[in-house]
Amino acid sequence: MNFSITILGSGAALPTFSRNPSSQYIECNNRHILIDCGEGTQMQMRKFGVKFQRISHILISHLHGDHFFGLAGLLSTMHLLGRDKGITIYGPQGLEQIIRSQLEIGGTKLDFGITFITLDGKSSQLIFEDKLIEIHTFPLKHRVPTNGFLIKEKTKEYNLLGDLFKQDGLSIKFIQKFKNGEDVVDENGKTHYFKDYTTPPPPTRSYAYCSDTIYYENIIPSISNVDLLYHEATFTELHKQRAKATFHSTAIDAAKIAIKANVKKLLLGHISSRFENGDEHLKEAKTVFDNTIVVEDGNNFEV
Ligand SMILES: [Zn+2]
Repeated sequence: MNFSITILGSGAALPTFSRNPSSQYIECNNRHILIDCGEGTQMQMRKFGVKFQRISHILISHLHGDHFFGLAGLLSTMHLLGRDKGITIYGPQGLEQIIRSQLEIGGTKLDFGITFITLDGKSSQLIFEDKLIEIHTFPLKHRVPTNGFLIKEKTKEYNLLGDLFKQDGLSIKFIQKFKNGEDVVDENGKTHYFKDYTTPPPPTRSYAYCSDTIYYENIIPSISNVDLLYHEATFTELHKQRAKATFHSTAIDAAKIAIKANVKKLLLGHISSRFENGDEHLKEAKTVFDNTIVVEDGNNFEV
């Protein structure tokens, strides 16, 4: 099953030729999710081959423009391309009002429904689940209410050793129990152990998104042990004071969170337009946490 992240925008605040504002496309077990939707996101989707109509969930972290100014435009394009399948948008208080006003005042009537789910930005919660994945939100610490997101696979079933199962002539009623990791007692009172007929399920994978936030250890329980963590690193140590004043993080801040949360790999993004490249961010972060990458627009990562 696929689980991948495509970076559509890795810059902070201002769009530049090299970095678009925040947005990411997540494919997880054939679920298609957009996180944040800065200005120009739909052009990045075209450029990097993301199919518009597949997206079923849009998660907006907060209401600073570089994280959602592209949303009304994207929804309008989905409509013009003939979308009739509904979409669910998660975001802070006020997002629904803004988007509905933008559409209604201009007389745009979409051919598909939007379900808005308001996030309070104050508590961690499970916001979506189906049989394969879960999406959780948790509060970040920024100048306005801001949500981080955790996307993870559900625990998978044990793999049945089909030949052995057949050979021993067990009832097909046992199959699901074994796959669930349960032992079964048959009508003669004999116990059949699932471990004899299965191999362990493949590990579940997880991805966490943290943008924007000041250094904030309260997020650690929500993101601990993830395979991949995206954490904003707007600034380097040179602008440490500026980071604090604007409730943003430095590369070192992000790396400290990564090591304390015991994540496997760290992606740094939301890079300020004052930097020509991410070299300094990378150098600083690696002094704390080695398995770090500074992302570029168009990068694709397997979780
Ligand atoms: Zn912000």
